[in-house]
Amino acid sequence: MSPTYELRVTETQWRRLYDHLFPGDDDEHGAAILAGVAHTTNGVRLIARDVILAQDGVDYVPGRRGYRMLTADFVQEVSDRAAEEGLAYIAVHCHGGTTGVGLSSADRASQERGYPALLDILGGQPVVGAVFAVASAAGDVWLPDRSRHPLDRVVVSGTTRLLITPNLRDVDTCEGDYTRQALLFGDRGQELLRRATVVVVGCGGIGSILVELLARLGVGHLIVIDDDVVEPTNLPRWVGARRLDAMEWLTRDGRPAWVRRIGRRFARPKVNVAARIAKRANKRCEVTRINGDVSHEDVARTLTGADYIFLAADSFRARLVVNAVAFQYGIPAVQLGAKVAVRKADGAITDVFSVVRPFGPETGCLWCNNLIPPTRLAEEAVGVEQAGRQRYVDDPDVAAPSVVTINSVAASHAVNEFMFHITGLPRAHAGTNYFRALPITGEVEYTTPRQGPECSECGDIRASRRGRADGRTLPTTDR
Ligand SMILES: [Zn+2]
Ligand SMILES: [Zn+2]
Repeated sequence: MSPTYELRVTETQWRRLYDHLFPGDDDEHGAAILAGVAHTTNGVRLIARDVILAQDGVDYVPGRRGYRMLTADFVQEVSDRAAEEGLAYIAVHCHGGTTGVGLSSADRASQERGYPALLDILGGQPVVGAVFAVASAAGDVWLPDRSRHPLDRVVVSGTTRLLITPNLRDVDTCEGDYTRQALLFGDRGQELLRRATVVVVGCGGIGSILVELLARLGVGHLIVIDDDVVEPTNLPRWVGARRLDAMEWLTRDGRPAWVRRIGRRFARPKVNVAARIAKRANKRCEVTRINGDVSHEDVARTLTGADYIFLAADSFRARLVVNAVAFQYGIPAVQLGAKVAVRKADGAITDVFSVVRPFGPETGCLWCNNLIPPTRLAEEAVGVEQAGRQRYVDDPDVAAPSVVTINSVAASHAVNEFMFHITGLPRAHAGTNYFRALPITGEVEYTTPRQGPECSECGDIRASRRGRADGRTLPTTDR
């Protein structure tokens, strides 16, 4: 497959740009975007950090050749900032039309006059000329080596995802097996699922259900990440796991310690079982298995080309790393868990809940919502919680019950949200709220996550991680 060139913008950035380009006057308008650059396994992604609107008649004026153009002052100011911050420079303007658009010969000629010099100014980042119609977008990506590549798509990531291509009909086929669910989101929606790359971090009780659901929905590429093997105690909650996967006859209680050790050595890695589940659900689903820890740099990097990330691992380090990837690379993500809390003194059940917490381009991050407590991160770093890693508990001393039904509520809700997002189904409710189901009281809570504008991860401040892509290191640990 040839590499894809993609621009990612948030819904808020898109609305600003769209309102500026298409105020209803059928006239031409211009803008610039500064974007972080990500080199992923699928190609190059440009993650918009800032949209700078060119004021009509001041920054965007009639040129000598009869077409309107960005003024030299505007280009200089914006490209200087790009150079200083190590970002790509993207010049944007609009054309008439709706569902199809392309650069004109005049656009190309003006790129050829100006872009080689701009590439020199930027010193290592791409320069892009993009053109938008109401429902389509196209452009040329110039790389520092002077090679030119068509901009394949613009992804608007917010409560729902909008995929904008040079021609609206680029995505419109659907395979026969899926006609029933395609009645909900259309052939186009089904095709969008097939083209999606989705990561499941953590293949435990919740992760195994996620894999099953995502594969059956028709997701084309799953990346599954876990560094553990299946254990007998996993079996009641692990969809599709077999006793043989856990080497149960060797590892069960009562066997001598050395026999149990051998059993563990031959037990199947969870990612292998996850791949089997996915393939059985949908043989066309491509599965990448990563038997490793997401807090390691090489594993974390596999997330950067994803369209969506499910975080079902229990460690705070995993939260820290996935949170960083989501904002740095503009990828929607969701953290999910289920918990049965038990009082230490008498074993009474005090709380039961399933939670789903979306985070990513349009919401506050896990830091802002106190979900990565520094003290717990520090404890993990020195290994205090090793025994509790397989559980979803706040108190490592509490034995953690875990039940397949409570896990399923979280998994189903999260995959449902993902389906609405990726297929672009319109809906009234904002898909960015935290979800919490409480079976004991019979309540379902939706809360709006906090967002700190000054946050170093998701905030608007210049030093924040948001949209920096490869220009910032991830908070991973060395092996
Ligand atoms: Zn044009
Ligand atoms: Zn934040």
